[in-house]
Formats: sequence, structure tokens, C-alpha cells
Amino acid sequence: MCLFPLLLIFISLALTQVFFPQAAPTSTLPARLALQPTRIFPGDVLRADLEVEKSVQTVNAVLGRQVVAFPRPVGGAQWSGLAGIDLEAEPGRYALKATVTFVDGQTIELEQAFQVLPKTFPVQRIQVEEKYVTPDPTAQKRAEEESKKLKAIWQMSTPQKLWQGSFLSPVASQLTSGFGRRRIVNNQPGSPHSGVDLKATTGTPIKAANAGQVVLAEDLYFSGNTVVLDHGLGLYTLYAHCSTMAVSLGDAVTRGQVIAKVGATGRVTGPHLHWACRLNDARVNPLKLTAVWMAEEPPANSRIQSRRGVQGK
Ligand SMILES: [Zn+2]
Repeated sequence: MCLFPLLLIFISLALTQVFFPQAAPTSTLPARLALQPTRIFPGDVLRADLEVEKSVQTVNAVLGRQVVAFPRPVGGAQWSGLAGIDLEAEPGRYALKATVTFVDGQTIELEQAFQVLPKTFPVQRIQVEEKYVTPDPTAQKRAEEESKKLKAIWQMSTPQKLWQGSFLSPVASQLTSGFGRRRIVNNQPGSPHSGVDLKATTGTPIKAANAGQVVLAEDLYFSGNTVVLDHGLGLYTLYAHCSTMAVSLGDAVTRGQVIAKVGATGRVTGPHLHWACRLNDARVNPLKLTAVWMAEEPPANSRIQSRRGVQGK
């Protein structure tokens, strides 16, 4: 007998769900993720801005297996994170997922899907010394060990953000060889070009693209005198084929500080700077990094940092 009213309530609840379905949960959440750029290709740097209606305590985000850091912004500015789309990423649907905890204790899950669009990189034929195409066993062993060392470095980033503001181009130069080109080296297929080649004369000063710590400064078989800067939170820049290096392992560098000089060491066809960037282990175009404006920094900051950079010369 007393089940009847309960049954009525159940039926009316069910009908409410059918005729008055609840709004999609995302539209009622006090936060959303906005991604840039709007068209995303392999090799791009993706910037995610968290748009919120109340104060945020923490943000934990992932893109596939990539942890996307959202460093605490300065002075209550917007929370933003950077993700890397590897130069050989498969085109298709991806999703950035974030767990946001607010100061009032509420925790929500966000998901922002996007498409990685297909991109065809040009093929380039280059001719280098034969020892760089078929290294002797000693050189082969050395190159393999150096490759392992770099791979280990990409996994050990400083958990703090060391960079500030925007990233600068290390040399003022015309681009000579674009990012991502599929290379045929001495008529043999090589690995894709994971950086950009900036043409400059031997001895041209190379500036640190941003503040960071030197995690490698040594002569490598393929990339010659090479400096790697760890900018923190999975972000690295690499400067190769240098004639001389002005920094050592462990040094802290400022944005714009001269870290090396352009040269032609390692596997090259002439003097230039090979400039590359790793972001959460993804090989991304460093020129895309210079195009990202960091929302958490007031624009006036960049002027202060430029002056500091000049002093660092
Ligand atoms: Zn290069």
C-alpha cells in the first residue's frame, strides 16, 4: 500500500528526465578550457587557458600520457598550460583532460577535445661527410650513448617553471631549413628534421631563448657542440653545431644571455644554428614557442627581461 506513492514519485522523476533532460554538465561547470591555436598540426605548441568563475586551488591536466603542467599564475592571472604535439603525431581526435580543484573545495573534471590536422612536410636532400651516414663502430657506439643521454634528459625536467614571459629567437636570421622536413641524407632516408636551421656566420652569438638551467653542454657526434637548456615543467631548448660554448653543465642562464656561438661542428653542410625544442618529450617547432604569448605574464615584463638580457652579454 505504501509503495504506491513511491512508485508515483519514481515515474514522475523518470518522466522529468525524459521531457526535461538536464543541461549538458559542461555548460553548468564553473570552468572551461580554451585551446590555441584554433587549427592544430604536428609540431605545434598548444596553449590551454583555463577560464574560471571562481578562485582555483590546483589544476592537474593530461593529454594522453603527457602531463600538462599548469603553473600557479602570478597575481591572480589566468591559469595556462602548454602541451606539445609531436612532429610525427598521428592526425585525429585528441582530448586535454583536467581536474580542477577550487579554493572552496569543489573539484571538477574538464575535457576539451581537438583535432590534429594532417600536414605534409617537404622532402629535402642533403649531402654530408660519409662518416655521418655510415659511422664506424666506435662512432656508432658513441652516437647511441649520446642519444640515450638525451632521452634521459627529456625525462628529468625541473618540476618548477624557470622561464618567464615570451621566448626569443636565439639569433636574428633567415630560416634556411624548415622544421619537420623529411630528409634524404646522401641518398638514404634519415630521421625528420626536429628543429629549425637558422643561418648565421661562424661566431654569431647565440642567446638563451629564455631563463633556464644548462643540462648539457658538450660535443656530440651528430650535433657537434650542443647546449641544452631545461626551462622547467618539461620544456627544453637545444642549440647545436656551435663553434664554442660559453656555459657549463649546471649553470643558470637568463633570457637573452649569450650561451654559445654559431659554428659548423658535427653533421652539417655549413655554419648555422640548429635550434630545437622538446615539450613533454614531444618534438615541437621552436618558432611556435616564440609565437606563444604567456597570459600569466604582464606584457611590461618582457621589456625588463630584454634589458636584463642585454646586460647578460
Ligand atoms: Zn637542423
